[in-house]
Amino acid sequence: MTDIPEDAQIEEAEEIVAKTKDFVRFLIAKRSDDYKCSQCGANTWSIHNESGLALDKPSGDGLNGESPVIEFEHDIRNYELAGITYGIHCSNCGFIVFTLASIVNNWVKENPADEVHEE
Ligand SMILES: [Zn+2]
Repeated sequence: MTDIPEDAQIEEAEEIVAKTKDFVRFLIAKRSDDYKCSQCGANTWSIHNESGLALDKPSGDGLNGESPVIEFEHDIRNYELAGITYGIHCSNCGFIVFTLASIVNNWVKENPADEVHEE
């Protein structure tokens, strides 16, 4: 028995795409406040989407926009893997951290924005 998802489950997950602001909520919920870059130790991050990559725009400008989707496809031995991830990159050294989209999307489904009470 394995936990490797069937192809069908991956495709189902792709249909639900988290918005950038949902991804940010996920990151805040799952990672520590001082989450540091494993390469350089900085703790300033940008969302790896079009808005995040445009350095002349104020940060946060793209929060309601497109999801930070990065598609990947690669082979591990004889297994073909394809899917989508969401990415953030270190503002200091550019190191990119990928997060599997299906995990974020499932979390967003269980934690919709409307039910979050900020105090
Ligand atoms: Zn870095």
